[in-house]
Amino acid sequence: MPRTRHAGLVLRGAFFVRGTVRETVYAGGMQRLASAIALVSALVACSHVERQTDDVSPTCSVWVLGTAQDGGVPHVGCQKACCTDARREGLARYPACLGVVDREHGKTLLVEATPSIDAQITLLQEVTGLRGTGRNPVDAVLLTHAHIGHYAGLVHFGREVASTKKLPVWVSERMAAFLRTHGPWKQLVELEQIELHTIRLGDEFRPLPAIRVRAIPVPHRDEYSDTMAFQISGPNRTVLFVPDIDRWDDDHDERRLDRLLDSVDVAYLDGTFWDGSELPGRDLAEIPHPLITATMLRLADRARHMPGSLRFLHLNHTNPLWREPALQRRLEEAGFGLARRGEQVDL
Ligand SMILES: [Zn+2]
Ligand SMILES: [Zn+2]
Ligand SMILES: [Zn+2]
Repeated sequence: MPRTRHAGLVLRGAFFVRGTVRETVYAGGMQRLASAIALVSALVACSHVERQTDDVSPTCSVWVLGTAQDGGVPHVGCQKACCTDARREGLARYPACLGVVDREHGKTLLVEATPSIDAQITLLQEVTGLRGTGRNPVDAVLLTHAHIGHYAGLVHFGREVASTKKLPVWVSERMAAFLRTHGPWKQLVELEQIELHTIRLGDEFRPLPAIRVRAIPVPHRDEYSDTMAFQISGPNRTVLFVPDIDRWDDDHDERRLDRLLDSVDVAYLDGTFWDGSELPGRDLAEIPHPLITATMLRLADRARHMPGSLRFLHLNHTNPLWREPALQRRLEEAGFGLARRGEQVDL
């Protein structure tokens, strides 16, 4: 298998070659998509050569199950080409979401419960061959914050749909209080369909036996909950997941970005907007996300030394990076990556 070595990081084959795996879900096409993804997953796995060889199958992995901003693509009400083309072609991009597998214990973890939760859990089950336990389609859920693209999928665990049984859901203290006291979420707690586990900041916790997670609070539009970034670790590697953040640092915390990336092998970063030009008439200073172009400037050295290890997701439907090959080339030539649904990182 062709391999490229970059500063200790081996990318087996290329990350998804455009067109190798269709990000299209037609009615009834999920099985086909998942099978295709399972077939090529080995091609896109990353591994540290120093710690792991091709002969040893990894015990833990992270899968990317979605890469869009909360509203996905197509985006409700959007009549621009970004969404009218997608509707015409039957193309669907799901909100940012990861699946984690602990193969030694046969368990899975869903990171974010998005409005596309059924398709994302189905994909996770297909690629891992694991079906959860009893009525629970996954073994645990981990949530960053209370915005619709990140937690609204919880409704499907309720009486009207899956009616899960004490499914562990890991959240911050503030988010736990919100879920306990507001419908429809509080009914999930009262009927013991979900069981809230409160994350203590600074402490590592284990949502699955072989998976360690550290939560780092990040600034964001926090109406109902605070917002977390997660460092997710297996036996060998650590992945950072920070889909939503307003700014990498500020007067309160000048080293936030350094701390987020500390000891991280692969980072999935907020890539909501490319350079702001997708929002004509808006003052750039008021856009509450670091622009991809600005993040690329800040992390240029790291990207050069560890190509492919800094990967953008949570892209808005208007983000030109989805559709412009010249921008994708610019990103990749600078050593960054665009996260693709179905890509896998071994932990
Ligand atoms: Zn979001
Ligand atoms: Zn659109
Ligand atoms: Zn948000």
